[in-house]
Amino acid sequence: RFNTKLPGGTDLEVGDAVQAQNVGFGRILKLARPEAFILCLATVALFVSSLSNVLLPTFAGRVIDIVTAHSDTDEGREAALKAVNHAILLIVVVVLVGSTATMVRAYLFSAASERVVARLKKDLFSHLIAQEIAFFDVTRTGELLNRLSEDTQVIKNAATTNLSETLRSLATSIIGVGFMLQTSWHLTALALIIVPAISLGIRSFGKYLRELSHKTQAAAAVAASIAEESFGAVRTVRSFANEEYERSRYAEKVNVTLQLGLRQSMVVGLFSGGVSAAATLSIVAVVVYGARLTILGQMTTGTLTAFILYSLTVGLSLASLSGLYSTAMKAAGASRRVFQLLDRVSSMSKAGDAKPLGKDEEGEVKLENVWFSYPSRPKDLVLKGVNLTLKPGAKVALVGPSGGGKTTIANLVERFYDPDQGVITLNRINLKEIDHRHLHEKISIVSQEPTLFNCSIAENISYGLKDNVKHEDIERVSRMANAHEFVSKFPEGYETQVGERGVRLSGGQKQRIAIARALLMDSRVLLLDEATSALDAESEFLVQDAMDRLMKGRTVLVIAHRLSTVQSADTVAVIADGKVAEQGSHFELLKSNGLYAALVRRQLQGPGTSSATD
Ligand code: ADP
Ligand code: MG
Repeated sequence: RFNTKLPGGTDLEVGDAVQAQNVGFGRILKLARPEAFILCLATVALFVSSLSNVLLPTFAGRVIDIVTAHSDTDEGREAALKAVNHAILLIVVVVLVGSTATMVRAYLFSAASERVVARLKKDLFSHLIAQEIAFFDVTRTGELLNRLSEDTQVIKNAATTNLSETLRSLATSIIGVGFMLQTSWHLTALALIIVPAISLGIRSFGKYLRELSHKTQAAAAVAASIAEESFGAVRTVRSFANEEYERSRYAEKVNVTLQLGLRQSMVVGLFSGGVSAAATLSIVAVVVYGARLTILGQMTTGTLTAFILYSLTVGLSLASLSGLYSTAMKAAGASRRVFQLLDRVSSMSKAGDAKPLGKDEEGEVKLENVWFSYPSRPKDLVLKGVNLTLKPGAKVALVGPSGGGKTTIANLVERFYDPDQGVITLNRINLKEIDHRHLHEKISIVSQEPTLFNCSIAENISYGLKDNVKHEDIERVSRMANAHEFVSKFPEGYETQVGERGVRLSGGQKQRIAIARALLMDSRVLLLDEATSALDAESEFLVQDAMDRLMKGRTVLVIAHRLSTVQSADTVAVIADGKVAEQGSHFELLKSNGLYAALVRRQLQGPGTSSATD
């Protein structure tokens, strides 16, 4: 089970620290493996450009030697100018080749990085969308969005651009050091004396930075999830005039991120400063000692110049290597959660052996001794031994006090969760063994507050059906669902966009679209959570009428709030305290004068219900 705390917590270390330890930079590099060929090509280009970079000091040194050593005669000057021109020409060629190689390298690495991030996003998304419902009960959407958009960017840069820069700096350093050694090994040793010291510093610093970055990203995700929630509930926020509260809630989390970010900046700043000071000092040492060698005549001015230029190049590369190391550590920290998510295994298998259900698919659903508690609240037993049979084609109404577990039963039949104990079967096959796709073709659900997608009405109605749905069919089911009339009044008809979660439609309209969707799906088993007082009398009548049409000829489990529904059901089951407290027909239960009779008196016939309208 995913080791997260409950939503609402402000913990930054939501992930499991033990798991997280072995997620390092190597894992990030693995992501780039499919781009190996391109990266190899890019690396060749990179070596060419590095080589051209380190060749320049040689030519510059040669020019200086020509300038300082030419003989002071006309022929001498002539020859020197010619030699300089020759050297300049070489420099131009080297620069041209180098720039072309740089261009190729930059393009290839950047293209590879775009592919890496796109693939990572797609993988992560498809992995997340397949997780069990319980995972989403405890995970904030905003956090997942942050992982998907922010963290993947960090990884992208680490896996490619950083990689390219690292290779470039490494190549430059190695080639540069080679040239330096060729010139003077003791000057080289002097120049490189700081390297071990710096690399020691880098190690401990990198670890710290990785932790810090992990925390920063976690805090950023918390801030993002708050923004997501505020925008999602903007109507409620507005109706309570609570914008200021939301603002401060968001600001508070952003400030946490800011503090961590500032600490990170300071660490990076100190580190870069230290590295650059060390590099400068070693160059100063080189200059001092090199000047001495030159004055003593053991070295030419040109050689010294070339050497200094080399050590500058190498120094810059080493400095940028340490910078890259810190970026890599940041990426490793930031990406830890992405990899945790990618590694997460859903606690529910999506598909059993896709057992073909026989031709005689009557649509029988049976719950046998079902015990259940929500994974996010394991101590609270919601169902305590429910036994319930939905005979093929029969209509069973669930009634009972609010919080009694009615919706939970529907959730379990949809296999949003698995029971802790007991079995649920469809046509005598355990739900766990039925292929996920097949199961949801056979069972569909219309909930109290249907969720629509941000697309057209037609697309919403045909949602979930793979093959092209004919327009006549959409219209047919819309008529049956009492939706056609209002849909055709929209200027754009079935192409009308419904907005996010269907905000551009009324509650009753959304219900009827959802009913049309279920009609088109045409499942054998139907789970209905009856819409109640949220609807006005007229749309309630229309919705009810549509529901009646939908229920015809199917096995129906309806969570009933209206007396008429309950009366027309074949069986009424009263769910109280996680059990089926009473079961029988409406009249049988009334006669026995128990819980149900009391409920009917109190709730179902109370004022405000529209049971009189039908
Ligand atoms: P009913 O539909 O009968 O009103 P529910 O089945 O929705 O009741 O809820 C039964 C109990 O389960 C309630 O105590 C509720 O707080 C709890 N519950 C419902 N959904 C969840 C969930 N996703 N996570 C944890 N507890 C839940
Ligand atoms: Mg409910």
